[in-house]
Amino acid sequence: MHALRWGLIGATFIARDWMIPAFRNTGGTIASILSSSPERAADFARANDIPVGTTDLDTLLAGEIDAVYISTTNELHVPQALAAIKAGKHVLCEKPLAVDFASAREMVDAAEKAGLVFATNHHLRNSGTHRAMREAIVAGRIGRPLFAKVAHARYLPEFLQGWRLTNPEKGAGVILDITTHDVDSLRHILGENPKSVLCMTQTGTLATGAIEDGAMSLIEFDSGLIAQTHDAFTTRFASTSLEIHGTDGSLLGTDCMTQDPIGEVVLRTAAGEETLSIDRTNLYERSLHAFGRAVAGTGEPSASGVDGLWSLATGLAAVESGRSGQRVAVHI
Ligand code: NDP
Repeated sequence: MHALRWGLIGATFIARDWMIPAFRNTGGTIASILSSSPERAADFARANDIPVGTTDLDTLLAGEIDAVYISTTNELHVPQALAAIKAGKHVLCEKPLAVDFASAREMVDAAEKAGLVFATNHHLRNSGTHRAMREAIVAGRIGRPLFAKVAHARYLPEFLQGWRLTNPEKGAGVILDITTHDVDSLRHILGENPKSVLCMTQTGTLATGAIEDGAMSLIEFDSGLIAQTHDAFTTRFASTSLEIHGTDGSLLGTDCMTQDPIGEVVLRTAAGEETLSIDRTNLYERSLHAFGRAVAGTGEPSASGVDGLWSLATGLAAVESGRSGQRVAVHI
């Protein structure tokens, strides 16, 4: 299997600052970039040393590429992915996969039917902190997990204060942006699925209209475990954490809901406190290595399309719960 050749769909912050270095550091090459604006396509291609900048998806898909990375705003993921799948390209798609469940399901099913790899870019399950927590749970070190708490409230940087705060058609709001990551992290660490969610939302200082820029959710998982999540765009001084509390111990992760490979995890049991050893591999690079193995037929993507469907379904249920005040069932 040769190193993967990528076409980038979306001239975005996440592509520029995180994914382009990760593609290159994992041996990949970037053939092209698609933007809806000819100027942005040309500027982005030049600034990032990408041979082709285009506004035409067919041109990008006709190029010599194995896979596309889709990081446009959320309402565009499905039509762009379906076109890529039709052209025989593997897909790495940003979360949330879509702004509605049915079209996301159609996209994931289409990739499977075509025998193509489809992955969701949930980076956090690649974090050394999250993997250490998963391993501790599998090893039985906290007994039966009963509760989880995720603190993922942050401040949306000024340069990103655009569609996330204003545009419901693009999937604005903190729930689809951040709660979806919490859900994927919890599913990965706990090894089980959510079954219902009750959510309260806030339109605090940044968003407008009915769009939430803060949310707290209670999520019930299959085993009866209850998770609490706190997500916001509006808190300048909050830190992130993820805790799992079990019958025989607690896992206390700090600074661990981040893009950087930082953070610590303490395991607290009757024996005392132990700081777990953490692998500091770049999260996005680890995910791309897994994607490469999946394309080669020797592994699975880090987060699959089905994983993306679960986080989307739970996020959409949280949005619905925030509006109705009712607990909403989650299923895919
Ligand atoms: P951006 O806000 O940077 O870009 C979104 C779109 O806005 C682009 O596709 C682009 O359109 C357009 N755009 C970009 N710059 C300008 C500009 N100067 N003027 C006008 N329009 C512009 O997106 P993000 O990188 O923040 O997010 C993109 C996707 O990635 C989302 O799905 C998000 O949820 C996800 N994401 C995932 C992360 C992760 O860690 N997994 C982290 C951050 C985001 P065009 O492409 O047509 O040029």
